[in-house]
Amino acid sequence: MLVCPKCKCEYEEGYTVCNDCNCKLVHGPMDTDKNISTKDKPKIIGLTGRILIFGAIFVIGIIILMNNTKLADSDMTNIMKDHGGSMDTSYYLIYLEQSIIKYRTLGCILSVLGGLGVLVNTRIRE
Ligand SMILES: [Zn+2]
Repeated sequence: MLVCPKCKCEYEEGYTVCNDCNCKLVHGPMDTDKNISTKDKPKIIGLTGRILIFGAIFVIGIIILMNNTKLADSDMTNIMKDHGGSMDTSYYLIYLEQSIIKYRTLGCILSVLGGLGVLVNTRIRE
């Protein structure tokens, strides 16, 4: 069995290039037992695994969102150390705001990404 490395299209022996992308075809990996094994087990495990991963991302995102002021506070401790222990109040506030925004954005992205991932994967499952 020949396979296009680009679009993964399968071709019979005798072909040399892919009709769609003009790519040189390569020999596919052992088609007979791969067809059996990829059809059942790995797909189910992969799906459950993906839901778990996205679920974890979602939870991490929510945790970051809820603790963003705490995280920003610990960031500030490090920034203060870098600045020799003291800093102008206006600078401090700017850094603090930036840290909070950073964690808030990160938390939002992670929770949205995780939530969407879980949704998409559970929909496929049904
Ligand atoms: Zn192709």
